[in-house]
Amino acid sequence: MSDSSTKVINLAERRAQRERQAANVPIPGWLVWLHCPKCETTEYTEVLMSEGRDHKCGTLVEEKEVPIDVRAEYTISLRNLETLDNLLESQTPSRLLGRFLKTSRDSLEQLRAAEEEYQRRMLIIAGTDEVTPYPEEWTPETAGMEVEVIQPPGLMLTEARQPQLHLSPPDQTA
Ligand SMILES: [Zn+2]
Repeated sequence: MSDSSTKVINLAERRAQRERQAANVPIPGWLVWLHCPKCETTEYTEVLMSEGRDHKCGTLVEEKEVPIDVRAEYTISLRNLETLDNLLESQTPSRLLGRFLKTSRDSLEQLRAAEEEYQRRMLIIAGTDEVTPYPEEWTPETAGMEVEVIQPPGLMLTEARQPQLHLSPPDQTA
């Protein structure tokens, strides 16, 4: 995938971002979902490209830009991380056996890495190296967000993180 876009954020925008950051209000941003119809891969990026882009296979990807509140996404991801850390800490080798334990731990670690990556992208979108999460009492529901809870392990998936809500359904005729 080419990465020739230049993201120019001018000073006024930066100042506005800083003020929003300080005020504990939504930080608007965009998350972009990319789907390659040939490779059938789906991934997200923080890089907006108005002119479209090709996948590494040369096929033009389907893109969908999803408006997000970076602070909300970041806050929810932090809570997911906390859920995962609690699970990882609670699973002691003496209580669960062998391969099952390893598989389970590995998948929890993978989910953990995915959350950390998502938070890293949120910082890039916000154009800062720190995002202050919403306070403890804030919930996605009160903010009017629909969140799907994946059980187990109890992770919250925002609409922005569910590509199937944004991209066209897979071709059933194939
Ligand atoms: Zn492809």
